[in-house]
Amino acid sequence: MGTRQSWDRFTQAVREAVDIVDLASEYTKLEKRGKRWQGLCPFHQEKTPSFSVDADRGLYHCFGCGVGGDAFKLHMELTGEDFPTALETLARRYGIPIPERRAPDEGERRVIEALDAAAVFFRRQLESSAWARRYLERRRVSTELIERFGLGYAPDDWRQLLEALTPRFEVDVLEEAGLVARSQRADRPYDRFRNRLVFPIH
Ligand code: ZN
Repeated sequence: MGTRQSWDRFTQAVREAVDIVDLASEYTKLEKRGKRWQGLCPFHQEKTPSFSVDADRGLYHCFGCGVGGDAFKLHMELTGEDFPTALETLARRYGIPIPERRAPDEGERRVIEALDAAAVFFRRQLESSAWARRYLERRRVSTELIERFGLGYAPDDWRQLLEALTPRFEVDVLEEAGLVARSQRADRPYDRFRNRLVFPIH
């Protein structure tokens, strides 16, 4: 999809436009010391400056409390914004046009729906599989974590997901979603994920 590419380009453009000294200067007074800028650390209390900014490399580091990273991280840590929000804030600040988020077309919408339905299916399978639950217990994965990340279990079967979802979705949609594969020889669709834990990515 073209969208992905334009967002990558957008992220890159913001990265290049951001001035880390300018950003940090909103929170602390920086002074030039040789090649670097130095000031009191905005992340911990101190009387002598141990916060250092390298404008050329676009990095900050505190020799006192150990924090460090790039301009995005600095902004996120100081404002509490998540990455997508930080990206938009910084784009506005440095005059980078924000690409429009294209609404998904009908086909993409069906694929997303199929993935959601599959996640529900895998979650139910996990609830009813004593083996998978025991395995997660052994790995010390808590119930809270399972729920938070929507972990699921793909049963040890070639057609269970297919049969559960085909009343609502065409096989083509399931194939495009990557949930179902097709054997070359028999040209028969089958479940791609079998006998394994499933971690949905949102
Ligand atoms: Zn510090």
